[in-house]
Amino acid sequence: LISMRKVSKFFDTFQALKDVSLDVNLGEKVVICGPSGSGKSTLIRCINRLEAHEQGEIIVDGVTLTDDKATLEKIRGNVGMVFQQFNLFPHLTVLENLTLGPRRVLGLDPKAAEERAMKYLNRVRIPDQADKLPRQLSGGQQQRVAIARSLCMEPRILLFDEPTSALDPEMIAEVLDVMSELARDGMTMVVVTHEMGFARRVADKMVFMDKGQIVEVGPTEQVFTAPKSARFGAFIQQIL
Ligand code: ATP
Ligand code: MG
Repeated sequence: LISMRKVSKFFDTFQALKDVSLDVNLGEKVVICGPSGSGKSTLIRCINRLEAHEQGEIIVDGVTLTDDKATLEKIRGNVGMVFQQFNLFPHLTVLENLTLGPRRVLGLDPKAAEERAMKYLNRVRIPDQADKLPRQLSGGQQQRVAIARSLCMEPRILLFDEPTSALDPEMIAEVLDVMSELARDGMTMVVVTHEMGFARRVADKMVFMDKGQIVEVGPTEQVFTAPKSARFGAFIQQIL
């Protein structure tokens, strides 16, 4: 579903991604970890073209990523993203946050958009919060709204960039539970996280990045029990 071939990304002269190749199959769950500044966010931002790569090729659902307008529309429709800082519209209610994209981008009428919003609010288990403003919710609830908002666009792929890093410890589990359920339902997911318990339970494939490169990639159990790189072992020790 996603194919990255020798992708490089520069910020001026600084190379943030170096010849990164990665495949993600339909329904696969991939967890990406690695030290700060290793290029994790840059990598997933290239998948939905929030960042443009300079070298190599990225194919998402059969579409080669370019700045062509039709391509961008297709990619943004197919690939949802959940950020560390939720990125909800503060002046809109939860329901309005959820119906905006389906109405504006997908052209749903208000009733259909609301039905869809309530379906996904139920899915993240906060249908009772529909009429509140984001600031009236806990961090965990806000992140679940952000996940529901992505689901309302019915994407084929969901990207998560450290979705629990801004949350108090007691709220991390509720967000990881929702993500685990999505995984069980067959969603294709690429997740940047340092939650190694979640990774081990949910990920089919683990990716470890360092200095803009993928230094370790493989089936989750294999990567945890017999990492090929000493650096991944050291990294795991450090964060556990
Ligand atoms: P973290 O764990 O801290 O989120 P990361 O692995 O997500 O780190 P990236 O955000 O992908 O790292 O950044 C990789 C490198 O690219 C860093 O050295 C960063 O300073 C640099 N970088 C990222 N975005 C930009 C930008 N817009 N302009 C210049 N440099 C950037
Ligand atoms: Mg990051």
